[in-house]
Amino acid sequence: MAGFADNYDMKSLNLSQNWVVLAPGDDASAYAAAEISRIFGLLRRKAGLYSGDIPVESAVSAPDGPAAAIILNAGAERARNGYSWRAAPERVEIFGASGRGLVNGAYRFLGALGVRWPEPGVEILPDPGADGVYALTESGAHQPSEPDSAKWRRLVIGRETPLADRMHILHWGIRSGADALILPLEETPPLFAAISGAFRRNGELLREEAERAALSVEAGGWDLTLLIGHRVFAPKELFRMEGGRRLKTFNFCPTSPAAIARIKRGAERVFAAARDVTVFHLWPDRDAEDTWCSCPTCRAFSRREQNRIAVRAAADVLARINPAARVSYFEYVPGNGAAVTGNVVPENTDDETGAVSVRSNMFGIGPLERFFPGTRLLFGGA
Ligand SMILES: [Zn+2]
Repeated sequence: MAGFADNYDMKSLNLSQNWVVLAPGDDASAYAAAEISRIFGLLRRKAGLYSGDIPVESAVSAPDGPAAAIILNAGAERARNGYSWRAAPERVEIFGASGRGLVNGAYRFLGALGVRWPEPGVEILPDPGADGVYALTESGAHQPSEPDSAKWRRLVIGRETPLADRMHILHWGIRSGADALILPLEETPPLFAAISGAFRRNGELLREEAERAALSVEAGGWDLTLLIGHRVFAPKELFRMEGGRRLKTFNFCPTSPAAIARIKRGAERVFAAARDVTVFHLWPDRDAEDTWCSCPTCRAFSRREQNRIAVRAAADVLARINPAARVSYFEYVPGNGAAVTGNVVPENTDDETGAVSVRSNMFGIGPLERFFPGTRLLFGGA
């Protein structure tokens, strides 16, 4: 480390040197090391140097000899996502407060080399300078951890998103600093309900990949109505009223005892089956989040209150079955409800029912939504 502080103000990195990645060997550091190795291989090839990924070695200190080293280290605080990195000649150090932080730091470093991932499935490499030298846009960075998991970035993969796109979306989310992956309820192991083997395998692959990159895996999405179960033989009073008629489309009548009884039964089944899930996202139907009931009983409640009546019914069950887990809910804030991307701004409610303590703030992924329906990058929400 002698002289490191004097030399860290780097403007470029020479990839023609004999680089090696030193990783302690846990999943997340192996993930980060493999990505750095792969990208360095691509950058070398683009610079006309010998191709091939750079070696990854399981070690925590710099090697003897001429090799230039990228040294990875991670702290053990699983919920921390912060990192630091800095570059000196022949030495890059990346430290994560956790495995998740380390992966974030690795992508920040690769981003400083000019690598970009503007959308799922797309990776843009920078142009090299002479002799395999690549410019650095920064020589280091420090990003503190976000201790409040309610402010994490969450990647929502909608059930309509084609299987073939999902791994690309997950990789894009990991590279964009997502802290958690949200899978639809019925695709979350071990909840697998009546879904095909292809979805089941895909759900398992996504979950494994997310966990390798140290993301948390959470369950749900626009799945509140799913707890009600089959609607075909359901009693009519369970359905949402509009213009004096009961409609089966969108959400339900939250003051109907039949609806609440079904929510509680559905919640019990789901929560008991998935005890390792720490956050369940139970939002109203997508693109109808603010479409609730106008029956004589419900008319006494705002749409926001109606949503909360239903969410609380589920949260009460969760508080009994798995007190450490939480329910994330979704609600519009007056004046913002017409936002086309389904934006919700922080509501900052401290709910008195215990299991619910959620502020949802969600942003669409812009034009990408057209291609990946139901897919969102969510900032906060649990
Ligand atoms: Zn009603």
